[in-house]
Amino acid sequence: FRSTKRIIIEDRNHIKDEELKEAAGILRSGGLVAFPTETVYGLGGNALDEDAARKIYAAKGRPSDNPLIAHVSCVEEVEPLVKEIPEAGRKLMEAFWPGPLTMIFPKSEKVPYGTTGGLDTVAIRMPDDPVANRLIALAGVPVAAPSANTSGRPSPTTADHVWQDMNGRIDMIIDGGPVGIGVESTIVDVSSAVPAVLRPGAITMEMLEEVLGEVSVDPAILGPLSADVRPKAPGMKYKHYAPKADLTLVEPGTGADRESGAEQVTGAEQKTGADRNTGAAQETGLEETQLQAMIRKVRELSREKIEAGYKVGVICTDESRDCYTDGEVRSIGARKSQASVAHNLYALLREFDDLGVDYIFSESFPKDHLGQAIMNRLSKAAGYKIVKV
Ligand code: AMP
Ligand code: MG
Repeated sequence: FRSTKRIIIEDRNHIKDEELKEAAGILRSGGLVAFPTETVYGLGGNALDEDAARKIYAAKGRPSDNPLIAHVSCVEEVEPLVKEIPEAGRKLMEAFWPGPLTMIFPKSEKVPYGTTGGLDTVAIRMPDDPVANRLIALAGVPVAAPSANTSGRPSPTTADHVWQDMNGRIDMIIDGGPVGIGVESTIVDVSSAVPAVLRPGAITMEMLEEVLGEVSVDPAILGPLSADVRPKAPGMKYKHYAPKADLTLVEPGTGADRESGAEQVTGAEQKTGADRNTGAAQETGLEETQLQAMIRKVRELSREKIEAGYKVGVICTDESRDCYTDGEVRSIGARKSQASVAHNLYALLREFDDLGVDYIFSESFPKDHLGQAIMNRLSKAAGYKIVKV
């Protein structure tokens, strides 16, 4: 590529087709365009064109057995890509499309193996972002769009992140401002008897269960895969979202790990105002004693590395910011707003890359609702290095 063109969307809520015409033309003719979606920025190419898929893998440095998600602009565009739409798939489309939910279907002949990493299934999503949706509609083809980052780097949540990774490697970047959600879509396999979550996201377990009843969770979401397990989503076997520094999470023990009676202690403490320290305990599903132990551990681990001469980053929250004095301390968001944590997560990992820290120590979060996606991304970024307190 000679150079990457960058265009800026003037008003996301009043997009003129004129603004997206050139980008749509590039997609139709086999080129690559990065664009905003509500989850993260995507790196788009024609999903029905194996050459375009090859270019996507090359631009990202992504292993070609890691399949791509095909993005559509309306439900009618799904039919030609799939063998069938199972009942669970219909229900989820109705409930959550357009939105941050990807579903796995048995693929039709039309979808090339070059897009699906050789699989007989295809992943499909209908994004809610107005730029993404209009661009796909104008292109008139399903758009394969993995996150627009270099493979192994944190996903991009701004056009600048995309520029850092993709300038000179793709035809165009559409700057539509920072994304809303900040973590990738939830992936649900609806081709099996019991729908299975392969990747957690903003459509949470709780939301899926409300629509479907029973939903299973792929073990790869919860922890590292052992070498002998063949992962359902091929992407799961790769180390993702890795910051350059060595990241360690500090996590409070589970209820079962704690001594019995801890619940009662908290009840008493809340009345005596112990949560004035962080003000976060009641609203966030963590007890004040757990929060305090976690913060102490993060401080202790970072001090050790600082004293050994390393540059250290600390990931805290708005509520705990004042508890830290040493190292490059950054808040990832407010504990009482999971959405704020998801929104800032990847930008913060990139900031630490730019700062050139050697070690990062991070607080962790309860895994309910959006917390499951947050902890899935943080745990992967940490290579599952988790210290329990
Ligand atoms: P990304 O595009 O970077 O968000 O990654 C796409 C994710 O979707 C990867 O982890 C893939 O493994 C997963 N995926 C895509 N297609 C399929 C499929 N047919 N079956 C299972 N997982 C898929
Ligand atoms: Mg990705």
